[in-house]
Amino acid sequence: MEMTPVARTVLVAGGAGFIGSHLCEALLEQGHKVICVDSFQTGRRDNLTGLLGHPNFRLIEADVERLPPIRDRLDRIYNLASPASPPAYQADPVRTMMTNVVGTNNLLALAEKKGARLLQASTSEVYGDPQVHPQPEGYAGHVNCNGPRACYDEGKRAAETLCYDYLRAGRAEVRVARIFNTYGPHMQCDDGRIVSNFICQALLDQPMTIYGNGEQTRSLCYVSDMVEGLMALMEIAETPDGPVNIGNPREFTILELAEQIRRAVPNEARPVFRPLPKDDPKRRRPDIARAKSLLGWAPRVPLEEGLKKTVPWFAQELQRPVAASGG
Ligand code: NAD
Ligand code: UDP
Repeated sequence: MEMTPVARTVLVAGGAGFIGSHLCEALLEQGHKVICVDSFQTGRRDNLTGLLGHPNFRLIEADVERLPPIRDRLDRIYNLASPASPPAYQADPVRTMMTNVVGTNNLLALAEKKGARLLQASTSEVYGDPQVHPQPEGYAGHVNCNGPRACYDEGKRAAETLCYDYLRAGRAEVRVARIFNTYGPHMQCDDGRIVSNFICQALLDQPMTIYGNGEQTRSLCYVSDMVEGLMALMEIAETPDGPVNIGNPREFTILELAEQIRRAVPNEARPVFRPLPKDDPKRRRPDIARAKSLLGWAPRVPLEEGLKKTVPWFAQELQRPVAASGG
């Protein structure tokens, strides 16, 4: 990864969330000044423990839809502000859409005003239920624009559109990362995603909940690899000609993932099968040729190792009375 030689002022919207909190930490470690903007809709103050007292860290509690004036000089803006797990983004779908459209527009306008470079956290969900596999960035996707996932998928697609409209108009320098399923510490036990559900269920000796027949696939990236990929994309000198997939191409069926997690946390309970949520993508795996050639980046943490680093986090989380409800 290209290292940044100068200390920058970096705004991280969504910095109290799962990925954002790791990103804030990594930026501080590199000597940058970090301003975290978060509404705590899905993020947690606890994720920032250790950062709140740091002299180069500042927290602004605000919604990106109503961004307060920021007086500081800004060099970089990472936009991670959006709920990310299906139950969280479907809980208030209109708000999800508005966060991604109005919030992204507000941050792009801020980037324009400050002359800052903006990295947008897009998603593999822009490919919808893909008919091309693995998914390269040139694939335009297969998204249902009025289904229950649309608030997120279409919100993120519209956010990409805004980014490239600002870029084409010369109003802001942007980078778009299409993030694939990511896991690690700072996820919440009850966020409804597969890794949090399966690990917490296993730790509580509850049955793992397999949606559908478990033959659908996902490819999971450990959070430190994700943060390295995002920072590398932000810092390459030349603006890439379009979005860049960041994810781990090792693909598993959901049944295989249940088995991998059972190896990390032995669980005697037999899995139970639940209905497949509507529009749940059947398979997903990033084509990361572009990230490799442009950024010299590839994930380094294998699933077995990433799970070993993640299980203790959930074990500790389950000691918190509020989190101990499993998946
Ligand atoms: P997260 O829910 O843990 O973090 C999102 C953060 O954004 C939270 O702290 C939340 O409080 C904040 N936020 C939400 N709406 C906001 C608003 N209107 N104003 C200010 N703050 C707001 O999710 P995450 O997994 O860390 O995801 C971070 C980003 O990466 C998201 O944009 C998500 O869409 C994207 N992404 C994540 C994954 C993944 O597997 N984790 C996959 C694809 C894309
Ligand atoms: N899934 C599952 N059991 C769970 C949670 C999720 O079988 O308890 C499945 C879900 O149907 C999907 C995959 O795991 O096929 C990944 O789900 P997640 O919500 O983590 O992410 P996304 O669907 O957004 O990729």
